[in-house]
Amino acid sequence: MKSIKLYILSVLLLVASSAFAQDAEGAKESADSLQGTSKEQPNPVHPVRTLGKVAVIDTLPTGNDALSIVLFNDNTWRYILSENYKNDPDIFSDHWNTSATHVYTDIDVNSLPEATALRLVDSLESYHYPYMGRITSRYGPRKGRSHQGIDIGLKTGDPVYATFDGKVRFSKYSGDYGNLVIIRHNNGLETYYAHLSQRDVEVGDWVVAGQQIGLGGSTGRSTGPHLHFEVRYKGQSFDPERIIDFNSGDLRRGELLLRRRHFSIYAKYEQDFGDEEEVAKQEEAERKAAAAVQYHTVRSGDTLGALARKYGTSVSRICQLNNIKSTSILRIGQKLRVR
Ligand SMILES: [Zn+2]
Repeated sequence: MKSIKLYILSVLLLVASSAFAQDAEGAKESADSLQGTSKEQPNPVHPVRTLGKVAVIDTLPTGNDALSIVLFNDNTWRYILSENYKNDPDIFSDHWNTSATHVYTDIDVNSLPEATALRLVDSLESYHYPYMGRITSRYGPRKGRSHQGIDIGLKTGDPVYATFDGKVRFSKYSGDYGNLVIIRHNNGLETYYAHLSQRDVEVGDWVVAGQQIGLGGSTGRSTGPHLHFEVRYKGQSFDPERIIDFNSGDLRRGELLLRRRHFSIYAKYEQDFGDEEEVAKQEEAERKAAAAVQYHTVRSGDTLGALARKYGTSVSRICQLNNIKSTSILRIGQKLRVR
């Protein structure tokens, strides 16, 4: 009897150990594949669920001033960052022109900082690809013109989604772009969705990542149905592949260190991978720099001088980071970037 028990025990152990070996093998494989991609994508962010054609019907306060709840017309809801707690309260008023496609025409690229750290997503703000399909034309010079976005083939009528949370700045037919929707996001980035056959959002609408904003088409200067997708910061376009991996649909990382040189039409994301090791090092440094970004919520009695001392920086640096003057009046609750 004892030997039978021992036999059963040893068989169980054998089964368990072979299962463990398989697991270990599987774990090793996934570790390898993770390592294989880690150079290119340190912290990829997966898309949120597709919301489809939902609309925000109400925004409700919560017990926490920094948080609001948005209610959608499909009976779902989500937390969002309250408007006055966004990093820069001027994002949705500065250069807010709802009748022009390009509104930062007075800002020269050389006046922008050498590098800008942007949070693309956080625990409250999420991401969804605009459309998943084959890239038919990349960012860069094209036949003597500048192709300032990326083209993704689609079928007319396919849904197109908001990439991040934000507010619709522009929604109408506009020349070469055809039916165009432009969304300004909480970090100041703007995304452009062109050649749509139908627009489902209007100027001033708050949208969330994964919300259907229109249907793909071929309106404007277009030779066939495709989505022309642009990403711009202060009016300057950069390669959308810098932030989105259109093969997997993932966002490459949660933070972006946007360099002034990225605004060149010749600065293609792919080409930056000429020297992988160098790029891996650079990305690690960029990741650290982006992670070092720090915010301060203004309290009663705060002054720029005191904040500069507290965070070991200078008044002029804080002003530069927040695009404010040293004489600007601070508001209680205002969120300032201090590092
Ligand atoms: Zn295009």
